[in-house]
Amino acid sequence: MRDIATPKRTKEILDKYKFKFKKSLGQNFLIDANVIREVLHKADVTKNTGVIEVGPGIGSLTEQLAKVAKKVVAFEIDQRLIPVLADTLSPYDNVTVIHKDVLEANIEETIKEHLSDCDEIVVVANLPYYITTPILMNFLEQTTSISRYYTMMQKEVGERLSAQPGSKSYGSLSIAINYYTEAKVVQHVPKTVFMPPPNVDSIIVELKTRKEKPVEVEDEKTFFKLTRGAFVQRRKTIVNNYQSLFVDGKKKKAEITEMIEKAGIDPRRRGESLSIEEYKQIYDALEETVL
Ligand code: SAM
Repeated sequence: MRDIATPKRTKEILDKYKFKFKKSLGQNFLIDANVIREVLHKADVTKNTGVIEVGPGIGSLTEQLAKVAKKVVAFEIDQRLIPVLADTLSPYDNVTVIHKDVLEANIEETIKEHLSDCDEIVVVANLPYYITTPILMNFLEQTTSISRYYTMMQKEVGERLSAQPGSKSYGSLSIAINYYTEAKVVQHVPKTVFMPPPNVDSIIVELKTRKEKPVEVEDEKTFFKLTRGAFVQRRKTIVNNYQSLFVDGKKKKAEITEMIEKAGIDPRRRGESLSIEEYKQIYDALEETVL
């Protein structure tokens, strides 16, 4: 049987089921099996690996995953694709398709139920681009059982995930991702490997879950409130951004300045220049007084 990820077979499947793409669900299907094989090679998926896929579509990536992994669990939100997947993936007995919005999935439960006999769990996905960040954050906040993520996404989002302090793409998302993982762009992907081709450029990003966090914070919610607060207006200094952040706490500029200085940070710096360790210094200094 020919690979699903070819223009010809994909067209045949779409025609057979009279399938019309839904832009609102980020439906751009992979039609190049070589790109998929490269991803699997980089992700080092083996017969001991349990894979979670988000959005299998018509099964282009799922099929290749099924060939090399021990088991694959795939979440698909679009009801119309469920019978298509039952058909296209029928040769593989190690795939479970779950008809569900992945944002509502209980990841630990899923792993326990379907992948508990796998040595390692990896996420591999050509993500629906409109919800890339919520999907990744939802996984990272819920579980540390996943060792690696290999996901295709819009280039600009991938650059933000892996950005370093001082760069244009660096923001609170880069800090959150850096807190949970080591992020790296592994490959650029041309628009021509998708049907229909997306309007944006794509890249594959590797996230390796950290065994130890780069900073130790007791109250993660507050820590991320601080990192987000520093970027509310990118061009403003941290002290000015924090003034609006703590307006309910009735902190005056002088007090906030004093506390940031106590953290050993120049309050005139901008959020984009601070490392995660420096945010931790601010968190420690602010903890008792403002929060
Ligand atoms: N993996 C397929 C491929 O590479 O050809 C399809 C990838 S396509 C970019 C994204 C897929 O995610 C679509 O099948 C879409 O229906 C599905 N999807 C969109 N939102 C979703 C959600 N919230 N939960 C699960 N699947 C979703």
